[in-house]
Amino acid sequence: MQPSVRAGLRERGFLAGHTHPAHLQGKVIALEEHFWIPELSVGGNYPAEWARRLLDLNTLRLEEMDAAGIDIQVISHGPSKLQNLDAASATDLARRANDILQQAVLAHPDRFSAFALLPTPDPQAAANELERCVTKNGFKGAMIHGTTHGEFIDRKRFWPIFERAEALDVPIYIHPGATHPAVAEAYYTDYPAMASAGWGFNVETATHAIRLILSGVLDQYPKLRIIIGHMGEGLPFSLWRCDALLTRDSDLKKRFREYFRENFFITTSGNFSVPALLCSIMEVGADKILFSIDWPYADNVEGKTFLDNAPISADDRCKILSSNAATLLRL
Ligand code: ZN
Repeated sequence: MQPSVRAGLRERGFLAGHTHPAHLQGKVIALEEHFWIPELSVGGNYPAEWARRLLDLNTLRLEEMDAAGIDIQVISHGPSKLQNLDAASATDLARRANDILQQAVLAHPDRFSAFALLPTPDPQAAANELERCVTKNGFKGAMIHGTTHGEFIDRKRFWPIFERAEALDVPIYIHPGATHPAVAEAYYTDYPAMASAGWGFNVETATHAIRLILSGVLDQYPKLRIIIGHMGEGLPFSLWRCDALLTRDSDLKKRFREYFRENFFITTSGNFSVPALLCSIMEVGADKILFSIDWPYADNVEGKTFLDNAPISADDRCKILSSNAATLLRL
C-alpha cells in the first residue's frame, strides 16, 4: 500500500488497530500467500521488495502478518517457469520447493500451512506429488499456475491430478500464470501492461475456470473443489451471462451456475473492492468466499482493513475471514 493511502486510512480511523472483531471466534486465515525458491525465482527487473519477501519464510513474513492481524498463511509457491520445464526437472524442483515449504510449516505450525507446487508437465507425477504432500507433509491442497507448455489444465491428460485431489479431498487453487503468447500477441501487443495483473491474468484464469466447467471434469469428479482468486477473476459479475449462454450453447449436464456455486470457492486476493465483494456474496454466497491477500504482491494491512470495514454482517465476515477456510482445509 502506498504510504499516502495508509496515512489516509489511518486518518479515517481504519488503521486504528488490528485486533480481531469481537465476534470472530476463529483465526484469520489467508490463503493466496506466496514464497519462492531461488531456483524458480524470476530474474530481470523483478522488484527487490517482492523478491525479498518471497524468499522469507520467517521473521519478515510473520511481522507483516502480525501487523495486519493475520493468524495463518496458507503458503504457496508463486508463479514460475516450472510448468514450462521438462517433466523430470519440474518434478525435481516441485519436490524441492515443497520440502522447503514443509520445513517452514514445521518451524511455525500454528502460523503457516501450505499448498503444494505440482509438476504439471508430467500429470501422473503431479498427482503423486500432491498425494505425497498431503499425506506426508500435511499440505492442504495444491496451486496450479496457468497453462502448462501452453495447454489449459482442463485437457484430459491432466485429469489424473483432479482425480487424486478428489480422492484426497483437497482443493486445487487455479492461479494466474503468464498470458499465452498467442493471446498476448493478438490482444495486448499495443498495450503490454494489459497482459498481466491489471487485466490479462484475470481473463486467463477465468478462462481456465470456464474451461474446467465445460470439460466435464466436474461431472467425472463431482466432489472436486476448485479455488480461484481475485474475487473470482470477474466471473461473479459475469455469472448471469455465463449461466444463460454457456448453458444454452454447450452440452453441460447441469447449469453453468450450479457448477460454479457447488464446486468453486473464490478468494479476496488482490481485489479489495466493496462492490466486487457484495456482487460475489449475492452470486455465490458468503459460504464460498475466502479471505486472501496475494502477499507480497498486495498489502496485508490494506486487504485486512478492507474486510474489517466491508459493509457485511458479522456472521459473513467471520465466515470469510476464518471459518470457511478452516472447514475447507480442516485447519
Ligand atoms: Zn497470487
